[in-house]
Amino acid sequence: MINKNVELDIPCPECGYKRRLKIKELETNPKYVCRNCKKTVNLDSSKFVKDLEATFENTKSELRKAIKKLNK
Ligand SMILES: [Zn+2]
Repeated sequence: MINKNVELDIPCPECGYKRRLKIKELETNPKYVCRNCKKTVNLDSSKFVKDLEATFENTKSELRKAIKKLNK
């Protein structure tokens, strides 16, 4: 499980302006208006969270590998 209170810097797909949002917020409200270009950004939160979980899993296995090396 991932901590949904984690804040992420989400770049606007139009202009790249970053906005800080909690994963929890993205899940409940994946739409937001970019403060820079005023466009409505609609994030596909289900895909987004999946990607994020995959990233977390990779990080975890990398950590495990690193710990194994240290214990040798
Ligand atoms: Zn924008």
